[in-house]
Amino acid sequence: MKFRDYSPQEVFAGDAPAQRSPRVIIAPQRYVQGKGVLGQLGRHLSVVPSTRPALLISERGLKRVGRCILHSLKRIRVKPVPLVFGGECSDEEIKRHVIQLRGQDVDALIAVGGGKCLDAGKCVAHCVAVPVVICPTLASTDAPCSAVSVMYTPEGAFDRPWFFPNGPALVVVDTGVIVRAPVRYLVSGMGDAMSTFYEARTCFRNPRARTMIGTRPTAAAVAIAELGARLLFGDGVRALEAASRLKVNEAVENIVETNTLLSGIGFESGGLAAAHGVAQVMPMLPRLHKNYLHGEMVAMGLLTHLCLEGQLEEARRIAEFFAEIGLPVHLGHLSLNVDRHDRELDGIVREALKIFFVHNEPFKVTAQRLKGALVQAHHLGMEVSEEMGDEAYRRLHRLPGNPEAQFSRRISSGL
Ligand SMILES: [Zn+2]
Repeated sequence: MKFRDYSPQEVFAGDAPAQRSPRVIIAPQRYVQGKGVLGQLGRHLSVVPSTRPALLISERGLKRVGRCILHSLKRIRVKPVPLVFGGECSDEEIKRHVIQLRGQDVDALIAVGGGKCLDAGKCVAHCVAVPVVICPTLASTDAPCSAVSVMYTPEGAFDRPWFFPNGPALVVVDTGVIVRAPVRYLVSGMGDAMSTFYEARTCFRNPRARTMIGTRPTAAAVAIAELGARLLFGDGVRALEAASRLKVNEAVENIVETNTLLSGIGFESGGLAAAHGVAQVMPMLPRLHKNYLHGEMVAMGLLTHLCLEGQLEEARRIAEFFAEIGLPVHLGHLSLNVDRHDRELDGIVREALKIFFVHNEPFKVTAQRLKGALVQAHHLGMEVSEEMGDEAYRRLHRLPGNPEAQFSRRISSGL
């Protein structure tokens, strides 16, 4: 099956002179967040509007929140067409669901689960030309609000981004569900969200920088990302404490909104730079792909980004915050040894330089410079880790011993 690709770069960047690219902001049409809102999904669905939706959810997701969703839809006499998510956001998976929906006459698609299931939902909805409703069960990334999916091969290797002309019609985030997931996901989302501000700021200040969709960042997106960083510093630790006790309080609400909405708008309409360039290529190492979450790799990417820009004080402040909540602050936390894995580090640097947004930095990013920043970030993180200890990291990764020697348990996708 061949899908017609939409290229936002052609629409927005076109052949205009570099300085004339427009500022564009993209956001979901509606965002609903609160404890128990998934139980009101039927009510919210009526404004899409939809009376015959498809429901894409994994078997595990169905066990976790299926009853609540089906009950809510039953109350408005809606019986969804079920689609079981197989675990990977690949062309094969999408094709399977598109074929299944032939002749079903659905008018919306509800995707419920983790990042890959939500991304798959956006693709299927686009292919059958219906609005997508996104219900994240984790606050681990900023994917739910964006109009792009990350495609993988069926084996799980990165394939390509897939852009859509429309963002989600509705995003429903139940904080009561989010706090019942392991807190490591929430913490990972904080790493991803913290980076959003620094990358958006870099792009905003550099007139040559472009967002993923080929536009200039909007001031609004940068302000939204900045608010996210402020909320993280102010409420991150309190949110983690509450979520660890399965409690939802205002701090949890602030951090879930930061990880999902603020960071979502921030990265898509503010732009990415070195932090995500480094983080995005790390999963090419199978043990990193298998053992670490996106936001955990972004955390190390952000420290590298700040060292690259010479913002050492800010890098230290962020490393201290990361150490407090359990994010990686040095390469050992990502099972990388700065001496023994030198070739792997070179590989990360080499691949990162191929990603266009690494070059959103206001100076020429060379292999030598990026590697130097990565190693500098590692040493800075080691210092912070020695001063503050890494209990929070060990607790999240269930490590009794040396983090370099033991990898965290496999991260399951599609929760
Ligand atoms: Zn990210």
